[in-house]
Amino acid sequence: MKNNPASLQINMTKRLYYKALKLKNRLIQGKPVLVFMYHRIDNDVSEELGLQVTLDNFEQQLIYIKKNYTVLRLDDQWAIDKKAGAVLTFDDGYADNFLHALPLLEKYNIPAAFFITTAHIGTSKEFWWDHLASDYANCGGHFYLPGMEEKVSKADYSYKNLADLILNFKNPEKEKWLETFENLNQIAFKAREGYRSMSVSELQALAKHPLASIGLHTHHHYPLGTLSEENQKKELLMSVQKLQQLTGKPADYLALPHGSYNESTEKLAKEIGLKGILLANNGYSNNANRLSGKMNRIFMPDFTGKRLEKFLAGFEFNFGSLKDL
Ligand SMILES: [Zn+2]
Repeated sequence: MKNNPASLQINMTKRLYYKALKLKNRLIQGKPVLVFMYHRIDNDVSEELGLQVTLDNFEQQLIYIKKNYTVLRLDDQWAIDKKAGAVLTFDDGYADNFLHALPLLEKYNIPAAFFITTAHIGTSKEFWWDHLASDYANCGGHFYLPGMEEKVSKADYSYKNLADLILNFKNPEKEKWLETFENLNQIAFKAREGYRSMSVSELQALAKHPLASIGLHTHHHYPLGTLSEENQKKELLMSVQKLQQLTGKPADYLALPHGSYNESTEKLAKEIGLKGILLANNGYSNNANRLSGKMNRIFMPDFTGKRLEKFLAGFEFNFGSLKDL
C-alpha cells in the first residue's frame, strides 16, 4: 500500500503538517539546540546498561552531527543559522572519554563538555551501576539478596529492581551491599580496566584541551533531589573544590547525577555562581533554556544511519516523534 497515489497524498499532507508544526514550534520556542548526553565510548560487547556508544557508531554520529547541525558549546550564543544546534556532553568521567572520544572529537574538530564525578578520579573503582550489572550478570537465575533468607529469581528481581533498591544508599553502604551480595552468591568481582574513571593526569590533559570544557557531576554521584539542602550544598561545594584542585579551572555547569534535582538544587547552583544545570530528560533545548540556566538533554543511543536520523528528527519538536503524527 506504500506507493499508491492515496498513500502518497497522505504522506504529503503529513509532511506539510509536520513543516507547519515545526515552524510554529520555532516561532514560539526558538530554534532547537539538541544537547546530547553520552557516557561511555567503548566497544565493550558485554555492556548491558546501554551506556556505551561504540567507536564506529560514535564516529558516524559525529559525521552526521557535523553535517546536519551547527555545533555549539554551552557558553556560545545559541542564536544560530538555519540549522538546529548541537552540543555534546559526557557524564561521569570514564577514562574512555579521554582515550576513545577525544581523539575522534579532535579528528572532526568538535567541542564537548565533560562532567566529572570527582570521587572516582584517579581510582580503579567501577561506578556502582556497572559493578552491580556485572554482579547481576554473574549471579545465576536464582540468587540470594542481602536480608532475605530464600533465593529469589531474576524473573522477580530485574537489574533495575536491584539498582532502585540501592540507589539512595551512601557509597560505603552501596559497596558493603555489593560485597555481601558477592559473598552470598559466590561471585569473584574484580574491577574492570575498561570501566574505570580517568586518572588525574588524564583529567588534567583533558581539561587543558581546547575542545574540552570540564563541568561538575558532583563528588559522590548521589541523586541530589533526594538530599537535604544542607547535604546538597556540601556535595556541590566539595565537587567545586575538588575539580578546581584537580584541573586548576573553575567549573560553570552542573550535570545532574541520575537527572535528580529539586528547587534547592536550582537555588544552590545560582548561589554558587553556576551558569546552568543540565537535566537528563530527553527533550530539546533552545536559547530560552540556556538563558534560564536549565537545559534539557537527549540520551544518545548506540545507533546510526536512518534510525538515528528518525530518532533525532523527533526532538526538533516539543512532542513525540514523527510516527506520532
Ligand atoms: Zn552520571
